[in-house]
Amino acid sequence: MSRFLSSRLQGLEAYTPGEQPKDMQYIKLNTNESPFSPSQLVLERINEEETKKLNLYPDPTAATLKSKLACRYCVEAENIFVSNGSDEILNFSFMAFCDSERPVSYPNISYGFYSVYAELYGLNVIEHPLKPDFKIDPTDYHNSKGMVVIANPNAPTGLLLSLEDIKGILDTNRDNVILIDEAYIDFGGISCVELTNEYDNLLVVRTYSKSRSLAGARLGFAIGSAELISDLERIKYSTNPYNINRLSLVCGEAAIDSDEYYTDCCKKVMSAREYTMSELKVRGFEMTDSYANFIFVKHEHTGGEALYLKLKERGILVRHFSNKLIADYNRITIGTKEQMTALISAVDEILK
Ligand SMILES: *Cc1c(COP(=O)(O)O)cnc(C)c1O
Repeated sequence: MSRFLSSRLQGLEAYTPGEQPKDMQYIKLNTNESPFSPSQLVLERINEEETKKLNLYPDPTAATLKSKLACRYCVEAENIFVSNGSDEILNFSFMAFCDSERPVSYPNISYGFYSVYAELYGLNVIEHPLKPDFKIDPTDYHNSKGMVVIANPNAPTGLLLSLEDIKGILDTNRDNVILIDEAYIDFGGISCVELTNEYDNLLVVRTYSKSRSLAGARLGFAIGSAELISDLERIKYSTNPYNINRLSLVCGEAAIDSDEYYTDCCKKVMSAREYTMSELKVRGFEMTDSYANFIFVKHEHTGGEALYLKLKERGILVRHFSNKLIADYNRITIGTKEQMTALISAVDEILK
């Protein structure tokens, strides 16, 4: 830390991304990326012609991408905000919709970035504990004060709230922004995007990083009322008008034109998830009922950290969290069937 850092930031605990060690080739099951490459169309569209235009700024309005997304999700372009990864939308939302009078509420176990943004902006936080089975109690969020942020499915538990649960939260918070982070919704959950027509307090946040194989392109989007979207645009034009680079815009457009490919990828992930869950259950693992591209597992004979280290020795990376409440667990990304078979073999060696 330099002596110049603002006193406001000196205690800030930054987000820790999943490790990316370079010492050997790992099977990477620790950051919930897709194991599949982007669609053929995406690969073809980022060609020499597009690359040659990198001397020019990208379209700050992202008009083509927005109109494709609007069409895909049955809303108007004015209901769409696009961003440099969905983390940027989370950042902008904490900046835009919270202040000293408006705190933020989220579950005590959820995506680690929420607490980082809350601290960055010096917000008051109301953390609601999950139930002992790791489920969210939706009534905890009824009649909240300030913004509510819920990942659905939640991370790292993979558990899903129903549309009815979300409606209940929306109905009892007409004057609060309800941000539903649907990073993992394409792996078997039911999206609440359609509720944005009815509720002007709902902001649904999505990412291209998981189900659309574009984590490296950094693309996210939000769907909500035109008013909420214009607030996010105001922040964007006050920080970084060209937040999405040219090639990522092209990737994002082509990915929407490749829906069939990605639907198929999601099906493969879900099928590998069912396979992995049943194989691990046979071996004595306990786990939550995941609706995401990861599973959250523990075994009574190996601690969470021990299993993480033993898998790493065998070239398989999974995610272990030091948080005491979940220290017995590991979050394992679902890769290809072959990768999951390798995981099962490694587990067999470890448990022997
Ligand atoms: C991965 C993830 C994000 C961030 O995704 P990017 O679009 O890559 O920034 C947001 N929320 C949750 C819950 C995630 O797991």
